[in-house]
Amino acid sequence: MNLETGIELNLFSFMNWISPEILASPIEYLKGVGPQRAAILRKELGIDHFSDLLELFPYRHLDKSHVSQISDVTATTEFILVAGYLGSFQILGEGKAKRLVSTLKDASGVLQLVWFQSISWMEKNLNPGFRYRAFGRVGFYNGEPQLTHPELEGFDELKGDMNPLQPLYSSTEKLKARSLGGRQIAKLTRQLLSQLKEKDIPEFIPDDICRNVGLISRFRAFQSIHYPETALAYQQALFRLKFEELFLNQVRTDMIRTQRQKQSRGVVFSHVGRIFNDFYTNALPFELTAAQKRVLKEIRQDTATGHQMNRLLQGDVGSGKTMVALLTMLLAADNGFQSCLLAPTEILSNQHAVNLTEMLQGLPVTVRLLTGSVKSAARRKVLEDIANGSAQILIGTHAVLEDPVQFQNLGLAIIDEQHRFGVAQRARLWKKSSIPPHILVMTATPIPRTLAMTAYNDLDYSVIDELPPGRQPVRTVQRYEYNRPKVMDFIKAEIKKGRQAYIIFPLIEESEKLDYENLMKGYENVKAYFPEPAYFISMVHGRQKSEVRRTNMQRFVSGDTQIMVATTVIEVGVHISNATVMVVESAEKFGLSQLHQLRGRVGRGADQSFCILITGNKLGADAKERVKIMCETTDGFKIAEKDMELRGPGDIAGTRQSGLLDFKLADIIRDRDILQQAIQSAQNLLISDPELDLPEHFLLRKQLMQEKGKTPWSRIS
Ligand code: ADP
Ligand code: MG
Repeated sequence: MNLETGIELNLFSFMNWISPEILASPIEYLKGVGPQRAAILRKELGIDHFSDLLELFPYRHLDKSHVSQISDVTATTEFILVAGYLGSFQILGEGKAKRLVSTLKDASGVLQLVWFQSISWMEKNLNPGFRYRAFGRVGFYNGEPQLTHPELEGFDELKGDMNPLQPLYSSTEKLKARSLGGRQIAKLTRQLLSQLKEKDIPEFIPDDICRNVGLISRFRAFQSIHYPETALAYQQALFRLKFEELFLNQVRTDMIRTQRQKQSRGVVFSHVGRIFNDFYTNALPFELTAAQKRVLKEIRQDTATGHQMNRLLQGDVGSGKTMVALLTMLLAADNGFQSCLLAPTEILSNQHAVNLTEMLQGLPVTVRLLTGSVKSAARRKVLEDIANGSAQILIGTHAVLEDPVQFQNLGLAIIDEQHRFGVAQRARLWKKSSIPPHILVMTATPIPRTLAMTAYNDLDYSVIDELPPGRQPVRTVQRYEYNRPKVMDFIKAEIKKGRQAYIIFPLIEESEKLDYENLMKGYENVKAYFPEPAYFISMVHGRQKSEVRRTNMQRFVSGDTQIMVATTVIEVGVHISNATVMVVESAEKFGLSQLHQLRGRVGRGADQSFCILITGNKLGADAKERVKIMCETTDGFKIAEKDMELRGPGDIAGTRQSGLLDFKLADIIRDRDILQQAIQSAQNLLISDPELDLPEHFLLRKQLMQEKGKTPWSRIS
C-alpha cells in the first residue's frame, strides 16, 4: 500500500459497494438539519458530513441524576440543576432590555429566571405553578443569583430511560442566533446516534489489540462519548477513542518511515577510508563522547545501505554536533563525495569555515565558504572549485542553494541549527545531484521524547544526550530590576578578569516599537555604566542593516568589545568561549526554550559562566515557574518537557503549523500512558504484518487510506 498517494482504487470502490456509508452522507440529510442549517454548521463548525457531527465531542456532561438545592448556589457555582415550582411571568423593560422574568422555588429558596429571547414562545409553552427542572449557568444580578436562558424541563417530559449524563456541546454566537445552541446540537447528535447501527461504525483495530489493551468497541465508544449511561462508560469511551487516535498516528508514521527507508535511493558510503582515519587518530583534539560515537554509528549504518539517509540530530547546546558533522563529511570525502554544511547566518557560517579549515589542516580536504558577502572573483573561484570537484566541502548560508552553485557530486547535506527544512529548499538541493544526497538536520532545540515519538516519528532521529566531560554547568540566578546596579558591578568584575558579557532584551513582534524603545533605553543605560574608552559595547538587533550587524558581531567575536547588547537575533549557534555572563532583561517575557537557547551562548569555555535573569517584582504563575526551572536545571530535555507542559505540545518546535499533533481527544502529555500502549501495539502489529496485508487488517488499512491527507510527507527529507 502506498500511503502517500493512496492509490488503491480497487479497494475503495469495492468497499463502497459492500457498505454504502451512512457516515459519509452530507449533513443536510440528517433529520432536523436541511440545507440552511447545513450551510451554517459547515461554516461555523466545519461539519460537512454525518461523520463530522459524530466527532463533535461534548466538552463535558451534566449529571442530571444530581439535583441541587437552590440554597447550594454560591459565588463560585458555574452550572446548576435545580427542581421546583415555576413562578408567574413578568415582562420587564423595553427594546433590547425587554425580558421575561420568573422564578423557580424549591424547599430551600428561590432563584430568578430570565429570558431575553423567544419570550412569546415561553409564555405559550410553559406553565407557571407546575414543577420543572431548570439547568443553566449561574450569573449574578444585583448580588442575587439568576439563570439566564435556562433549560427547563417539565416533569412529565422526563422519560424513565433518559440518560442521567447529558452532553454539553460548544456552540457559537452565530449558531445560537439560528437556534443551534448547545441544546439543539445535542438533539442532532441524539438523532444521528439513533440512526447508526453497529455495522456503520465498524471496528478496525485488530481483535487481539482490542483484547490486550482492553478497548470497548468503536460503536459503543461513540455512543458513550456522547450519551454515556454511567461515568465509567464515558471513561471507557474516552480511553478507546484516545487510543485509536494515537494508535493510527503511530501505525501511519511507522509505515511511512519504513517505506521511505526502503524506497528512497541514496548514494553509498561503503567504507571508512584514509581521510577519516587519519583525522580520527591524529587530529581529533579530544575523545568523542559515547553519545557522539553512537550517533556516528547510526549515520554510518544509514549511509551504507544504498537508501537515502534522512536524519534529525538533536543535541543540546554545546553537546558537540559540529564534530559529528565534520566526521560525517570526511566519511563522504573518503567515498568520493562532496558535502555541504548550511548554517542559518553568515556569522555562524564563517565560524564553521574557520574552525573546520583549521582542524583539517594537512589533510587532503579543501573547504570553501559561500555566503551573500562573498563577491565577484572570490565567488567565481568558489563556484569553480565546487563544480570541478577540487573542493570537497562547501560551507555557507542559503546562498549554497542558489542556482549557480553546481556540485560535481554532492553526497551529503548537513543543515545546522534548524529542525525544519522546507520543501522548496529540499527541491533545490535535489536539483544539485542526480541521486538525492543524504540529509542530516541538526538542532539544539531539545525535543521531548514523547513529542519525538509522535510528531517526528516518520523521521530517523538521533540524540546526543550527553555533554563533553568537564563542562561546568552555567550558574543561573534571578535578580529583580532594582538590583540591576549590582548586576552591572558583577559584569565589571568579570570584564576585569578578561571576560565578555551578553545583555539581551526582549523583542516581541506585537509590540515591536515599544521593545525597540526599551532596547535603546537599555543600551543608553548600559553605556552609562560602561563608558568608553574603558569599555566598548556592541549592539545587534533586527532593525539594523545586515552590514552594521555583522560589524558589531565581529567586533565582539574578536574581543574588541566586551559587552554585547542584543535582542534574540543572536540566539543560534555562535560560539564565543570567552563570554561568561548572559544577562537577560525582562526574563519573564521569554519562553523556556528561548531562555535555554540564550543561556547556551555561555558556558562553552573552561571558566565558570553565569546566567542572570532580571525580572520585575510581580510575576505571573507561569513566568515564576519558568524562572524557577531555569535556576534549577541546565538539562535541555528536562526544560523541554517542562516547556511542553506549560505551553502545550502544539507550540513546541513549530509542530502547531504542521497540524501533526491535532489530536481531537488525546493529549500526549496527559495521556502518556495511553501513548505508550499505542506505540507498543503499533510496533507489534507491524512486526507481524509490516504492510498490513493480512485480511484481518483490511479495515485498518482502509482507515489509514482515508486519512491519507494527514501524511506528514513534506517535512525535512
Ligand atoms: P553544538 O552541539 O552546540 O553545536 P559544538 O559542536 O559547537 O556544540 O561543540 C561545543 C564545544 O565542545 C566545541 O568547542 C567543541 O570543540 C567541543 N567538543 C565537542 N565534542 C567534544 C568532546 N567529545 N570532548 C570535548 N570537547 C568537545
Ligand atoms: Mg552548533
